[in-house]
Amino acid sequence: MKPARRVRARVEGTVQGVGFRPFVYRLADELGLDGHVRNDERGVLLEVQGPSESVERFLGLLAAEPPPLALVEGVALEDLAPTPETGFRILDSQRVGEPAAPVSADTATCDDCLAELFDPRDRRHRYPFINCTNCGPRFTIVRGVPYDRPLTTMAGFRMCRRCQGEYDDPANRRFHAQPNACADCGPSARLLDAAGHDAVGPGDGVAGAGDAIAAAAAALRGGRILAVKGIGGFHLACRADDERAVATLRARKHREEKPFAVMAPDLAIAAAMAHLTPEHERLLLGRERPIVVAPRRHEADVAASVAPRSPDLGVMLPYSPLHHLLLADVETALVMTSGNVSDEPIAYRDEDALARLGSIADLLLLHDRPIETRTDDSVLRTVTLDRSRRRLMLRRSRGHVPDSLELRPPARRPVLACGAELKNAFCLAKGGRAWVGHHVGDLKNWETLESFREGVAHFERLFAVEPEVVAHDLHPDYLSTAYALGREAVEHVGVQHHHAHLAACLAEHGEDRRAVGAIYDGTGYGADGTVWGGEILVGDASGFERAGHLWPVRLPGGDRAVREPWRMACAWLVEASGPEVPLPPALDGRVEASRWRTIARLASEGVAAPVTTSAGRLFDAVAALCGLCPEATYEGQAAVELEAAASEADNEAAAYPFELGGDGGLVIDARPAILAAAHDAAAGVSPATAAARFHNGLAEVTARACAHCAERQGIDVAVLSGGVFQNRLLLERTAAALAGAGLEVLVPERLPPNDGGIAYGQAAVAARAIGAG
Ligand SMILES: [Zn+2]
Ligand SMILES: [Zn+2]
Ligand SMILES: [Zn+2]
Repeated sequence: MKPARRVRARVEGTVQGVGFRPFVYRLADELGLDGHVRNDERGVLLEVQGPSESVERFLGLLAAEPPPLALVEGVALEDLAPTPETGFRILDSQRVGEPAAPVSADTATCDDCLAELFDPRDRRHRYPFINCTNCGPRFTIVRGVPYDRPLTTMAGFRMCRRCQGEYDDPANRRFHAQPNACADCGPSARLLDAAGHDAVGPGDGVAGAGDAIAAAAAALRGGRILAVKGIGGFHLACRADDERAVATLRARKHREEKPFAVMAPDLAIAAAMAHLTPEHERLLLGRERPIVVAPRRHEADVAASVAPRSPDLGVMLPYSPLHHLLLADVETALVMTSGNVSDEPIAYRDEDALARLGSIADLLLLHDRPIETRTDDSVLRTVTLDRSRRRLMLRRSRGHVPDSLELRPPARRPVLACGAELKNAFCLAKGGRAWVGHHVGDLKNWETLESFREGVAHFERLFAVEPEVVAHDLHPDYLSTAYALGREAVEHVGVQHHHAHLAACLAEHGEDRRAVGAIYDGTGYGADGTVWGGEILVGDASGFERAGHLWPVRLPGGDRAVREPWRMACAWLVEASGPEVPLPPALDGRVEASRWRTIARLASEGVAAPVTTSAGRLFDAVAALCGLCPEATYEGQAAVELEAAASEADNEAAAYPFELGGDGGLVIDARPAILAAAHDAAAGVSPATAAARFHNGLAEVTARACAHCAERQGIDVAVLSGGVFQNRLLLERTAAALAGAGLEVLVPERLPPNDGGIAYGQAAVAARAIGAG
């Protein structure tokens, strides 16, 4: 008999809750190996013993064919002396050593489960919580690690004999599937009226659950508004083709114009609403199931108030079995928008939903599987860069969180990075790994701050990170900054806002070279205490130089100017042509002449009007000059409408003139462009043409400024980031011009270019700072 070999393998990465132990079990079983496997707080630990060549083969397959949801980051091997152990077993989880076992992201219902869901002969026919090792909730139900049922929100459901049998059977698709359940033993759905009373009689088992969903579907078909509990929180739903229902939802939600997302029953119906490229379809069908923003079809049967004045539509497909049943019953697309009032965080607890959504929804479709962590839908669009279509992340949350990113150089001490204010997401880092948290939202009130605190504490437990270094934005008034400075016995690292944008993009691409970055956004606290937002930076994670910026203008009325883009039109006109500026014809009748004169005076005298180099505010000014959006009801609306207008125009429209000048630094002077836009508007040129000219001019001058800095400093990489680069036209045209100038262009991919990506950049800067010290 050949000598036996025994090997211990430690597998790290996303290997819990993804069927890794059953996979190891089946592999060992097939190859006739002895040993055992278990989860621990670092991942999966296994020992196998058998003939040398079988062990080799086992190790080869272990790395080559992991289960679909697993992400193996490393396998460390150690040879051991053979033992008398026979057979192969899955052992209970063990708490040992230093914990760092990642939890996987929530995953859309798999095809096998879907087939069972709609099979009348299956015991889970129409069971809205069907799942298996390859699909189902994960991150949103996890309370702690290791990922085992008692540490999830399924702890309160005791598996019935049949479910337990599947769970214990290594040959079964539900072997060790932690959320495994059926109608006899698992969660169930209920339909309540707004007062919290059952709207359907108590059903039993499958029939009861089915009734709640069928009744919910009937109400939706009839034009009612429902709150629907999903995977990461509540949605507010109504028919997407029913103008009265959508308008009512908008009014009750106090959401004046921000577009609503739509959930289509299937890909064909989605494709009937929006022009989908193969890349869009791939994203829609991906296991993350994000909202995909695509051009809407003119003929689409979608109510006008779903996405007023937007040429795009945010579309998604059902991702939980409950959605699949509901959409199959409704047979038409539904508006599915975050279950909140205006800017509050999305509701995710039942009692909270009743209290907050009871005044918006006619009925609530609930279930009794608690959601541990509120997680919004992720949002993506696609851009064409270097002739290939790529995804552009707009909001990174459900389906992507808590997947980790690499961090280089590794953090020598554990880091917490607190992010900025708008679209906040925090980041924890340890060694060469960084975990960017779920989208928290705009960190402006107690509710979001509480959600931020809870999220940070949860991630610290899950990934066993005890931060010794806390990175934060320089803005003294951000709640994230106040939180960071309130953390005691840690080292604080302040990171300039736009530097963090630049560092995030470089770190994501593993790029160590110094780069020139055009970082355009709405607002960021500058190193000099003024409001930055149209910056040309040169640097890397270790530092930066402000090589250039937009021409500074006044922000008349401070934050009021953000909500009233016409004020920026006024400020820019004052800057370009002096204090006596007449009200432009496009704003005639939409802005009172006396208010216009007051704002012109504030802008020229600099009273209550801080200076800003914001690119977002420049978009506001041009949009308002075109008469597009004198008042904004949501953040970035004017820029969205200007891009929408430009996308309807001829791409070749002559660019507005911008000048590059300034002594010492480089100043991008937009005054000639403002005068040209004002002239065009007065001459009756269409907003579409004006918008296209503006985009072309800004793209051209941005590329010229970057190329100038790059050449002077011997740099060959350029970064485009900041919230303004969510604008597809600006991003594509600037990137093309930069590539034409011979620069390699990096744009954010796995993280958003907006402030949702900031924390990771702060972590990269902090890691570099402590590494050097
Ligand atoms: Zn499944
Ligand atoms: Zn069961
Ligand atoms: Zn920013």
